Amino acid sequence: MARYTDSVCRLCRREGTKLFLKGDRCYSPKCSVVKRPTPPGMAGKNRRAKISEYGLQLREKQKVKRIYGLMERQFENTFRRAERMRGKTGENLLALLEMRLDNVVYRLGLADSRPQARQTVMHGHILVNGKKVDIPSYTVSVGDEISVRKRSAAEIDRFKELRESEARMVPSWLTMDNANLVGRVVAKPSREDIDLTIEEHLIVEYYSK
Ligand code: SF4
Repeated sequence: MARYTDSVCRLCRREGTKLFLKGDRCYSPKCSVVKRPTPPGMAGKNRRAKISEYGLQLREKQKVKRIYGLMERQFENTFRRAERMRGKTGENLLALLEMRLDNVVYRLGLADSRPQARQTVMHGHILVNGKKVDIPSYTVSVGDEISVRKRSAAEIDRFKELRESEARMVPSWLTMDNANLVGRVVAKPSREDIDLTIEEHLIVEYYSK
C-alpha cells in the first residue's frame, strides 16, 4: 500500500498543529511547528487567513487521518463503519481509531509515536491474547490482552528499557504492566478519554455532502 514518504513534520505544519508523529522530538523545542509555525512552501506564507466551511471540514478530516496514519480509503472505510454503529458517528469514529492495534501499542507506551507503533506491529513484535497480530488496523476488543513477543522483549533495547522504567500514565480505558510488558483493554474509549483537540462534527459534515 502507498505510504506518505516525505517529511512528516511538513504534515504538522500543513495542518498548523502538532500531530505527534516523531516521538520525543514532538515535545522538544526542535519541533518544526514550534520553530516554523507557517504552512510549508511559498503558498503557505501567502495563504489568506479566511477559510471556507468546506475547507475547515476538509482540514479537520486530513488532520485526524494524519494523526492516526491512515490513507484516504482506509479512513473513509472507518468512517462508514462508524456510521453503521449505534450512537454518534463522530464519537464512534474516534473510538474506532483509538482501538486500532497500532494506536493501542502507542498509548500503552510500547512505542514513542504512532508511526513507530505501526512498524512495531508490522514486524510481528506484538501479541493479542497470546497470538501474533501483525495488522496495524486490527481493532482490539474490551478484555483483550496486548503483550510483547518474548524474543522481542529480550532482544530490543526499547522494550528492555521500558521493563525497567517507572510505570507511565496510560488512558483510563487501558492498563499496563511495564515489568511484564502486558497491557489490557478494560473499556471502550469514551470521547473524554481522547486527549486530542478534534472537532469530529466537521468530519461528519465533510462526509455528509
Ligand atoms: Fe509534528 Fe512532531 Fe515534527 Fe513537531 S516534531 S512537527 S509534532 S512530527
